[in-house]
Amino acid sequence: MIAFIEHSFHHENDAESRQNDAVEAGEQGDAAEWKEALKEIQGTVDYDSIFTGLAGKDFGGMNRTKPLAVIRPAGSSDVATVIKSVQTTPFLRVAARGNGHSINGQAMSDKGLVIDMRAMGDHPSLNVVVSSSNSLSYADVSGGALWEEVLKRCVLGYGLAPRSWTDYLALTVGGTLSNAGVSGQAFRYGPQTSNVTELEVVTGRGETVICSESVYPDLFFAVLGGLGQFGVITRARIPLQKAPDMVRWIRLVYSEFDEFTRDAEFIVSQSKENSFDYVEGFVFVNSDDPINGWPSVTLDSDQWFNPDFLPPSSGSVLYCLEVALHFHHHQHPSFLDSEIERLIGRLRFVEGLRFQVDVSYMDFLLRVKKAEQQATASGIWEAPHPWLNLFVSKRDIVDFDRTVFKKILKGGIGGPMLVYPLLRSRWDSRNSVVIPEGEIFYLVALLRFTPPYPSGPPVADLVAENREIVRHCTKKGYDFKLYLPHYQTQEEWKQHFGSQWPRFVERKVMFDPMAILAPGQKIFPRTH
Ligand code: FAD
Repeated sequence: MIAFIEHSFHHENDAESRQNDAVEAGEQGDAAEWKEALKEIQGTVDYDSIFTGLAGKDFGGMNRTKPLAVIRPAGSSDVATVIKSVQTTPFLRVAARGNGHSINGQAMSDKGLVIDMRAMGDHPSLNVVVSSSNSLSYADVSGGALWEEVLKRCVLGYGLAPRSWTDYLALTVGGTLSNAGVSGQAFRYGPQTSNVTELEVVTGRGETVICSESVYPDLFFAVLGGLGQFGVITRARIPLQKAPDMVRWIRLVYSEFDEFTRDAEFIVSQSKENSFDYVEGFVFVNSDDPINGWPSVTLDSDQWFNPDFLPPSSGSVLYCLEVALHFHHHQHPSFLDSEIERLIGRLRFVEGLRFQVDVSYMDFLLRVKKAEQQATASGIWEAPHPWLNLFVSKRDIVDFDRTVFKKILKGGIGGPMLVYPLLRSRWDSRNSVVIPEGEIFYLVALLRFTPPYPSGPPVADLVAENREIVRHCTKKGYDFKLYLPHYQTQEEWKQHFGSQWPRFVERKVMFDPMAILAPGQKIFPRTH
């Protein structure tokens, strides 16, 4: 069967074009049959181009597709009905769409069906169980819930919060769990895929299964980081911990990459008592450019980046270590100050270039929302986003800095260039996501925000630059992986998964043998 799936993929282009012809000719098996089956659902089915048009776009803004219908499910039984109706046809496929924040069409289904998971998102039945014993409190949340909904509900209602986040929270639970979900807490708790104890999944076979580490573990681990290939996550159980009231948010500037990485790696390797609660970092341009340069580092309008503090040896780019420490209202300010000085005293940042603010925990976690509002007002949020996310091992990150940050990207990218260390041991190797081999590896996120062409550069040029960077990493033999990967051929997917490819294919055969799910990932062709 594996050989069959691999073999048939080589003919995918042929198969896809036959499929398209068939669709155009109205030969969707028995078209009436699948449409008839969809009449059974409790939610809604829209064939209207207004809805299908929206589901044919994503945040990347570089792909457009035309789904046949958009289903807004009322519950997991609707999701199962949709998948079963698709099975009755020879060509139809279906994508769960979270909040459509993919870059390269991963949540799309051209001439297929899209399940709008947000329809199940605002469900008032978000169930939070607060434990009075030693066991963990948890929230049962819908796969279509946004993380910001989870945050508000858990913090405001119960004073509790998940442990691991993404930087931006208008992403769905099912969408990030299908990838990894990474932010400044991941060095301690692992990605979001390491912070879930139970899932309800509707598999590609149309079966609804509740799974966990001990019950149907094959499905549980397959789905986490599984790129939507094995099932639709309809519910997730997320462990909670006591939420802090406040966060001291600090940025420290470095002129030398080796000092920046030394301190970042030191902090993420320390015990909880000797470290911060959040660690990230970014590269910025050594200039007064308001977007890419010094002003992008300050945290408050009354702060000023004084370049006189920079050593004369500073190069074209500089580095910022971003850390945060949680605290509670009842803690004495002098205790917090002395804790911060104890932790910061060991670091070698440029003296005079330290910025900090105290913000509420909610404001800290919702910090990117403000940037979204500004970018929306200037039209940049809606423009195409040719983003590139990589995991690069510690072994190669210095060379990456020398060649990519200092040369290819020395002028900036119009948005954040994140670079911060993560620990492999916090990731569960049973999950489907693949990461570099070394214990310490860096998340590199090139989050390009440029005005639409012709005010900004043509998107094709930025995509070409991304390709150049990936080619460079491959040529130099870096230990690296794409995060939020996208490829055009199965050969590339095979290389991406490396030794984990047979496992990924086996999981596909087991849970979605007709390759119905998440066609936008372009991994497997539909089989009959
Ligand atoms: P979609 O883009 O809608 O879907 C992504 C994939 O998952 C698709 O293949 C889809 O079919 C599948 N899928 C969606 N829902 C389900 C489900 N319920 N069950 C099974 N499969 C499903 N990522 C990070 O790790 N850290 C960050 O800090 C971060 N910040 C971001 C900031 C912005 C502004 C943006 C646009 C993206 C960011 N991301 C980040 C990337 C984000 O994790 C991915 O885009 C992810 O796909 C979540 O987006 P979504 O919920 O919109 O999913």
